Amino acid sequence: MAVSKPPRILYTKPSITALEAEYAADAAANGWGERCYDYINRFEAAFKDHLGVSHAIATSSCTGALHMGMAALGIGPGDEVILADTNWIASAAPIAHLGARPVFVDIRPDSWCIDPDLIEDAITPRTRAILAVHLYGNLCDMERLLAIGGAHGIPVIEDAAEAIGSEYFGKRAGSMGRFGAFSFHGTKTVTTGEGGMFVTDDAALYERVLTLSNHGRSRGQPKQFWPDMVGFKYKMSNVQAALGYAQMQRIEQLIGRKRQIFHYYRDRLRDFPGVRMNPEPSNVVNGAWMPTVVFDKETGITREQLSATFAGENIDARVFFHPLSSLEMFDSVPANRHAWDIPARAMNLPSYHDMTDHEQDRVIAIIGRLLDK
Ligand SMILES: *Cc1c(COP(=O)(O)O)cnc(C)c1O
Repeated sequence: MAVSKPPRILYTKPSITALEAEYAADAAANGWGERCYDYINRFEAAFKDHLGVSHAIATSSCTGALHMGMAALGIGPGDEVILADTNWIASAAPIAHLGARPVFVDIRPDSWCIDPDLIEDAITPRTRAILAVHLYGNLCDMERLLAIGGAHGIPVIEDAAEAIGSEYFGKRAGSMGRFGAFSFHGTKTVTTGEGGMFVTDDAALYERVLTLSNHGRSRGQPKQFWPDMVGFKYKMSNVQAALGYAQMQRIEQLIGRKRQIFHYYRDRLRDFPGVRMNPEPSNVVNGAWMPTVVFDKETGITREQLSATFAGENIDARVFFHPLSSLEMFDSVPANRHAWDIPARAMNLPSYHDMTDHEQDRVIAIIGRLLDK
């Protein structure tokens, strides 16, 4: 008889309860006609409330929210936007869509987020924004970023797709920049399947994005079917918003469980020499979207070895983001040494809401075995 594999441990999986199913069924049955925006309005209001911001627009994705926000800031051909080299393509794609150029800066080896010390050298007369991406729930040094942006008259914007639940000196990720963008993709802490949110405290910017999001039709336009400009179509549906609104009723539970899973790994891996996890410095709360291990060079442990070992144990762990500047469509910047080096000895660990302690113990045991070799 063949030896059976241990049961599969998933990487991510949304937590969907009877509440989400109830709201989505209600939206599907009743959320039409005059009620076609009910759940969208409720979801936006709950999200604003959670974040402590004045304006929110639900979108079909975080990429769409970033695209519209950057367009509303006037970013266009020939412009430059500074961001960390370590990122998912979704943060850079909207910059390229607008005809602007992403300028990739190295990360700090402890936070894996943009290194503020390197930003001023990357600023040129064409710089139109600094994009702060809070990688895996870890926070960018917002105080430094906002100071640099302020000194140069350049807006700091936040891609907080991975940072629901993260707080910086009491302020929630996504609420500190000129605008913030969130994702509700199925892998994220709060999900609507696909979806996103644009948030801002800037009333004028909100109006511009609202107009852009409605195919360029401004709120004050009395004529029907009369776009005032060429806009976008990145709207969220009412059925998706019903899922999102239910998730917002459970937001503390969803964030709390992510943090609990992270702390369980961290507290047990702390005694293993040569492995580091997401930082959580004082005055910061890490929303812990993605618990990640980075092995010291001296351990000799590689991404390939990690991938093969986890796959062999039927565990779905994923690789750390490749440097965007290593991709063919962008200029290569190997001088971003941390962004080019860390992914080669790092791994994202499974962290879905319903995973058990026993499953986490299996993951931890594998790491222990690798380090013992
Ligand atoms: C998931 C993610 C996105 C993309 O979100 P979509 O909703 O899929 O567009 C953007 N930025 C970051 C940092 C992400 O993790």
